[in-house]
Amino acid sequence: MLQKIIDLHIHSKYSRACSKDLELPKIAQACQIKGVDIVATADFTHPAWFEHIKENLIEDNQGIYRLKDNSSLTRFILSTEISCIYKHKEAVRRLHLVLLAPNLKAVEKFNQALEKRGVNIRSDGRPIMGLSAKEILQIMLAIDPDFMMIPAHAWTPWFAIFGSKSGYDRLEDCFEELTPRIRAIETGLSSDPPMNRRLSALDKIVLVSNSDAHSLDKIGREANVLAFDNPKDINFLNIKKIIESGDRDRFLHTIEFYPEEGKYHCDGHRDCRVCLTPLQTKKANYLCPKCKKKLTVGVLHRVDDLADRNEDAIPKNIFVPHKYIVPLREIIGYVFGVGPKSKKVDKEYQNMIKKIGHEFFILLSASEEQIKKNISDGNIWLAIANTRSGNVILKGGYDGEFGQVNVLPQGANQVKQKKLF
Ligand SMILES: [Zn+2]
Ligand SMILES: [Zn+2]
Repeated sequence: MLQKIIDLHIHSKYSRACSKDLELPKIAQACQIKGVDIVATADFTHPAWFEHIKENLIEDNQGIYRLKDNSSLTRFILSTEISCIYKHKEAVRRLHLVLLAPNLKAVEKFNQALEKRGVNIRSDGRPIMGLSAKEILQIMLAIDPDFMMIPAHAWTPWFAIFGSKSGYDRLEDCFEELTPRIRAIETGLSSDPPMNRRLSALDKIVLVSNSDAHSLDKIGREANVLAFDNPKDINFLNIKKIIESGDRDRFLHTIEFYPEEGKYHCDGHRDCRVCLTPLQTKKANYLCPKCKKKLTVGVLHRVDDLADRNEDAIPKNIFVPHKYIVPLREIIGYVFGVGPKSKKVDKEYQNMIKKIGHEFFILLSASEEQIKKNISDGNIWLAIANTRSGNVILKGGYDGEFGQVNVLPQGANQVKQKKLF
């Protein structure tokens, strides 16, 4: 069986606030270091980027592309993100949506359809449009029924299907009679599968995880692991089928951030450095205890509001499983007591990749022996083992501020210690 790690949501250099390094050959290279086998082309609605895609890629298998010069094993899938801002049912909705296209021809037609409706696709790799999520779905399916829409980072406050300040309470409120065409949602960094599974309304929805990378080093910080019988099966339609079915023999697991690390896990007010639990927020009447402005309600709170069961009531063994990781640069930085972008971390990281293998192999599979003989500080192995077993202490992120994870909790035992504050 062939296992492939797939990241369906990244951005190109044409998206706002994204690294200039995000070009296809460099993306391919970064994926090999990370261990991502198939990655989103990103931003296919942007004309200059679409040219870059056509110039650099050639179809390798149906709907799956590779670099023309064959310099990399990385494969690409046509996937992008759009931003819909529109008024619907008495409220302004702001939704980010991941769109997967079956082939270049379909992308061309889709881009033309957007331009015909007056959408400005030229100014941003993630274009903003006044069309509704449902209208986009209709346009896509009319062009080619094999298109797929996945609501992005479903729970973030500002731009998401269930966002507290932007979305809906139910998929049906958004997509109405087309709701059955939505088969998967992206959990985003601030939520994990157990949180999502507290909503029985999502029992038929498959949860996918992607990086939403804005720079090369963030590619694959979350991902999906799929299994195929032979190389011919690694094609667009089959990937779509596996994702839509959530078949546990094929969709092996997702790779997750600890959701506390995400920027919108807890409630709070960043300017005042105030971080609150859902209960504390309710007691404070949704106002910041310091400045009395409105608090930003985080993902944990929002899930709590919409959930109809506790985590222990989630049906067992029917959903795609998940594994938690902490990015290797973060782990090394933690052990060394320096920032993850420091030179010292980079040196250790590069050496480990060279001697042991790609980052996902190191984080998820490499043996103690393999790792221990290739690190300069034994605590790196300890920290990796801790992240594998969930023996970490977490401090939740809030209102745009990333959370923190302590990967060397002294004396912590072998259970996931969800300590938030
Ligand atoms: Zn987004
Ligand atoms: Zn405040």
